Amino acid sequence: MRPTLIAAAVGLTLCTSPGFAQQQPLVTETPLRAHLSFLADDLFEGRGTGQRGGDLAVRYLETQAAVIGLRPLAGGGYRQPVRIEGTRLLDGSSARFQAGASSITPVLGKDILIGTSSGKAELTVDGPLVFVGYGARAEEERWDDYKGVDMKGKVLVMMVNDPQPTAAEPNRFAGKSYTYYGRWLYKYEEAVRQGAAGVLLIHTTPSASYDWNVPATSFSHERFHLAGAGNPLEGWLTEDMARALFAAAGQDLDTLRARAETREFTPVDLGIRMHAQLRSAVRQVEQFNVAGIVPGTDPKLKAEAVVYSAHWDHLGMDEQGAAGDRADHIWNGAIDNASGAAALLAMAAEAVRHPAKRSQVFLWPAAEEQGLLGSAAYVQQPAWPLKDTVADLNLDSMNFVGSTRDIGVAGAERSSLYASAGKVAKKMGLTLAPTIPDLSGAYFRADHFNFAKAGIPAFNVGSAVFSGDGHFEFVKAPAASAARLVAFKQDYHRVSDEYHADWDLSGMVQQAQFTLNLGYAIANDAARPRWNAGEAFGKVKR
Ligand SMILES: [Zn+2]
Repeated sequence: MRPTLIAAAVGLTLCTSPGFAQQQPLVTETPLRAHLSFLADDLFEGRGTGQRGGDLAVRYLETQAAVIGLRPLAGGGYRQPVRIEGTRLLDGSSARFQAGASSITPVLGKDILIGTSSGKAELTVDGPLVFVGYGARAEEERWDDYKGVDMKGKVLVMMVNDPQPTAAEPNRFAGKSYTYYGRWLYKYEEAVRQGAAGVLLIHTTPSASYDWNVPATSFSHERFHLAGAGNPLEGWLTEDMARALFAAAGQDLDTLRARAETREFTPVDLGIRMHAQLRSAVRQVEQFNVAGIVPGTDPKLKAEAVVYSAHWDHLGMDEQGAAGDRADHIWNGAIDNASGAAALLAMAAEAVRHPAKRSQVFLWPAAEEQGLLGSAAYVQQPAWPLKDTVADLNLDSMNFVGSTRDIGVAGAERSSLYASAGKVAKKMGLTLAPTIPDLSGAYFRADHFNFAKAGIPAFNVGSAVFSGDGHFEFVKAPAASAARLVAFKQDYHRVSDEYHADWDLSGMVQQAQFTLNLGYAIANDAARPRWNAGEAFGKVKR
């Protein structure tokens, strides 16, 4: 019997047992597909941050939250303000490198990407280039790429990813898997902490785990950050451009990258000055997380809550699209993440009908594509006290291919959520997909990560983006289905991530059902989830 049938049968038999109907909700395809096809429609113009389509998405979600009967947040309503700053680089901006008498002028967008999150419309950056290896400072790894060298006013050139494993230390920096130190977000945050004038990341597709198109797209759009201290200059260099700069400095890129793999590495002043003129359109934008609550039923446990999250935003529409150009200028984000936002609506509707012992918070963060900004703002001003928030289950880019015999729970293995997930999967006739090395840093690239950083056990349920080698075990046409899931990489963050009415959504319903069942297992369990001993996120990380 096909797994979805098994799941339905399990749901059904349990539903008929006395008193079970109280607790086990059943997610069905019709509402999920309706919300998905609507949110992914061209009319939503790609649900852009700071764009009309985004405002429309918030209106839709808060309306649905009211229709479903979610309890509003304190202060009434379902909106939580997120104050962010939007910056778009304007023509007339430039970058130049002075190496002794010779000067190198990279082509913006082709050789180099630059932008600012300083909030300044006119900015001149003039500073020496310093190569800082991975730019990581990791106490628990006894690693410091800065060695106390003063970086104030300097432009830091960094590698992305983190120090690779060696024969002597196969598990340093989580071995082949990515750690937070490998993520561009960490690199930018560390450059701010170092008081640097700027940071340039060296792009290679293997180390970034995505091609140049991804940062190029984001830098050619308006970029956002939470209002407050950002970097004067942020950007990327192609590997060829970096190689040319290092050569102009009389250095060899590969030699220095090899040295950066050692603990003895010290920063290298390249003897080159960067002159950059950044002209930007800067605006303050108020966006909104949307959230609603299902109060718990247990007198004691209802004070604690399980959070389900799925970001509503995507990349929006560019100027040509806004100007009515007929070509496709809308990044619909059907899979990323109309799927998760829609699933959360379908799940919330069922949860309202079957409340659990602990309370449940349904959260649709804003501005995830801009650096997990909405969930960062949520954690700073939570709708539910963080100390009483026992877990976050995130849905980002769901399975659009079909039902599977297993379920992806990458990241759950860091806490007791993994054991709970195993039990829930078993009840649904599923197995847990094998844990594969997190080569793309998936754990740090979705909203659950801000909860983890705040010390709350959290993970993202089986993502279509980070499906690795398509290791999901599909029921129908396993090989072809797995290939279709992997092929989604071609649509990731492109205008081609669009909804198709012929999609078999049984896998998406399965993931939503699994996520809700796991949420209930946590919400009804006397004990609350806990991190594994020694887990980096066991303690609050700032
Ligand atoms: Zn996403």
